[in-house]
Amino acid sequence: QLTAPAGRLSFNDLSFSYEPNQPVLVDFTLCIEPGEIIAVVGATGSGKSTLINLLLRFYEPQRGTIKIDDVDIAELRVRQLRRIVGVILQDVFILKDTLLANIVMDTGCSREDVEAVLEQTGMTRFVAKLPAGLDTMLGEGGRDLSTGEKQLLSFARVLCRDPAILVLDEATASIDSETESILEEAIARSFEGRTSIIIAHRLSTVRRADRIVVMENGRIIEQGSPEIL
Ligand code: ATP
Ligand code: MG
Repeated sequence: QLTAPAGRLSFNDLSFSYEPNQPVLVDFTLCIEPGEIIAVVGATGSGKSTLINLLLRFYEPQRGTIKIDDVDIAELRVRQLRRIVGVILQDVFILKDTLLANIVMDTGCSREDVEAVLEQTGMTRFVAKLPAGLDTMLGEGGRDLSTGEKQLLSFARVLCRDPAILVLDEATASIDSETESILEEAIARSFEGRTSIIIAHRLSTVRRADRIVVMENGRIIEQGSPEIL
């Protein structure tokens, strides 16, 4: 079951609320083709991050389904689902350990695997800035990463799993220009060829998408190519 997913992703008539009578998603339908890059934009509270919460099965929809290829994600084991879908969240969890350990987590990747991922995505220059490179201690008492650097760390962590589907919930905090340029390159290199959803706050990432979806109050109110919108 889904050993080598093509990566078609569909949200079918989803309805969801965290609290009774406060709908967050309303009959939400969106079909994403394998390899397509979608940017989701919309006002704060419009339900963008909630889509990810449902895709990762942090919550169950009250109505509707989410499918990868033709398989309902409700039928997958959560571990398997989270190997197929790689997510870079707005808030990144940091262990009190080295950068390397923070990237590897439970993936079983070697140091060489991590170095290869960093190389492929242009993130080597981020690691080179740190006092002890991959061996720099992070977390409480260790090196404090900026919001943008945490997103880079999360990127590397996710790519070690080589997910078929990649989701980025962009940080809203401002990011310094050097980190921003590394992030942009990492996005460009890793989203290519993967089914991707970017919850976008920055124009540069929106422009990179094949299709832009505009959300308002849990619905899609408009969609089209970046040139049209
Ligand atoms: P932002 O651009 O600020 O990240 P968003 O589009 O991602 O906004 P969501 O986080 O999906 O918005 O939130 C949609 C609505 O659901 C908001 O009204 C929010 O307050 C509410 N909400 C989000 N998470 C929870 C939760 N865990 N419990 C209850 N309500 C929630
Ligand atoms: Mg959000």
